[in-house]
Amino acid sequence: MATYRTTNPTTGRTETDFPTLDDGQVEHILSRSDAAFSTWRTTPAQQRAAALTRVADAYEARAEELGRLIATEMGKPLDQGIGEAQLAGSIYRWYATHGPDLLESEQLDPQGARESLVQTEPIGPLVGVMPWNYPYYQVARFVAPNLMAGNTIVLKHAEICAASSEVMARMLHDAGVPEDAYINVFAGHEQIAAMIADPRVRGVSLTGSERAGSAVAGTAGEHLKKAVLELGGSDPLIVLDDVDVEHVAGIVAKARLSNAGQACNSPKRMFVPREMTETFLETVIATFEQATVGDPLDEDVDVGPLSSVEARDGVVEQVARAVEQGATLHTGGVALSGEGAFMRPAVLTGVTREMDAYWEEIFGPVAVIHSVSSVDEAVELADDVDFGLSGSVWGRDLDRAQQVADRLEVGMAYVNEHGTTLPGLPFGGVKRSGFGRELARWGMGEFVNVRLRRTS
Ligand code: NAP
Repeated sequence: MATYRTTNPTTGRTETDFPTLDDGQVEHILSRSDAAFSTWRTTPAQQRAAALTRVADAYEARAEELGRLIATEMGKPLDQGIGEAQLAGSIYRWYATHGPDLLESEQLDPQGARESLVQTEPIGPLVGVMPWNYPYYQVARFVAPNLMAGNTIVLKHAEICAASSEVMARMLHDAGVPEDAYINVFAGHEQIAAMIADPRVRGVSLTGSERAGSAVAGTAGEHLKKAVLELGGSDPLIVLDDVDVEHVAGIVAKARLSNAGQACNSPKRMFVPREMTETFLETVIATFEQATVGDPLDEDVDVGPLSSVEARDGVVEQVARAVEQGATLHTGGVALSGEGAFMRPAVLTGVTREMDAYWEEIFGPVAVIHSVSSVDEAVELADDVDFGLSGSVWGRDLDRAQQVADRLEVGMAYVNEHGTTLPGLPFGGVKRSGFGRELARWGMGEFVNVRLRRTS
């Protein structure tokens, strides 16, 4: 790939081509990042925090403009894009506020010596590889804690987010982060592998698909580098028999449509008591059919295009294959004619272990609804897949709902909500959804040297 190409998924028009690095530039970038590390790490933590506060202010002040940019780049409805920019800002602010304390050294019980001190130190240049579905938020999750800790960053965003990735870099630099402490690159996959292999790079964080995670973690493992992986999910949502089923179905149907269903932690599989299934299904179908699909810049639109025509065709094909294999399609699942990457949201039932749709992540506006005879069956099916990102349980009796939530094999279990992400809450999964955590204090613990200094 000689260029990154951005295409507006609403119009199908190519916006801009961004030339990728040549191999000589890779070397230059790594030496810049390495040199910047020696000064950035010794910059007082309060000064690094002050820069992050200015970044947070900029995200807040520019939220609408930033929302518009990703609406044209990857199709997110404007109100959701504005919300995402504000969330990204709040992550920078959280680390600016709490970062200096989290980096303080800690005196342990000296245990026979004069002193046993634990210091928290940065480890060096890091490579970040990010996806297009939440362009600002994903970057903030990785960048805020690591710039706060004193690491330097080389960031490779998804090809289709080239324009927003440049804007993010400028916002960081304008806020006082040195140009070489944060370098945005348009690089090919092999160039990323070469960077990870280089001795100057100390770790890599990837948010994206299992395929990309496996490639990047493979290179990291070969060169004994730490990797954090935030990968795909096929989140379960379990409805208990004491809820107002219509109310819950309305909420979760809208949640499934957020970002056109292109969220790692969207409730993709819904488990509903048999006697409630009909009402639940009708409500989800009605919500999906009433959703306005269209231009993400139009304020009445609920569901924008998918990120590209190829991505849309992939989801439509997954739905068609499920039907071929015996599932029932109740609504949608077809591409809208004309330009752009639009599709009608789909509802599937009757998806069984023999079908691909049971196992695959469906990264689009598709709800898979399972009717279950017991809570045990719901939990068993929920945990049956290879993913373990998040899951939720909906019930009036909170003790019971929490007990069911405790049985889910996931990194994040919610009761009566799904997928809430806040700067002070850890984010990450188990099984094939990845390893490591982002956000909160855990996000700053991934790429630091927890260093013991003991004095006798
Ligand atoms: P993707 O194709 O894996 O791309 C993600 C990033 O990885 C992009 O920057 C991509 O670059 C890069 N990449 C892909 N293969 C690579 C390789 N071999 N070496 C180096 N870089 C490589 O994923 P996507 O389609 O953009 O995103 C959707 C997936 O991400 C879904 O599975 C979703 O669930 C997951 N996701 C997970 C989380 C989480 O926090 N767990 C959050 C959001 C999304 P190019 O664009 O240049 O190919």
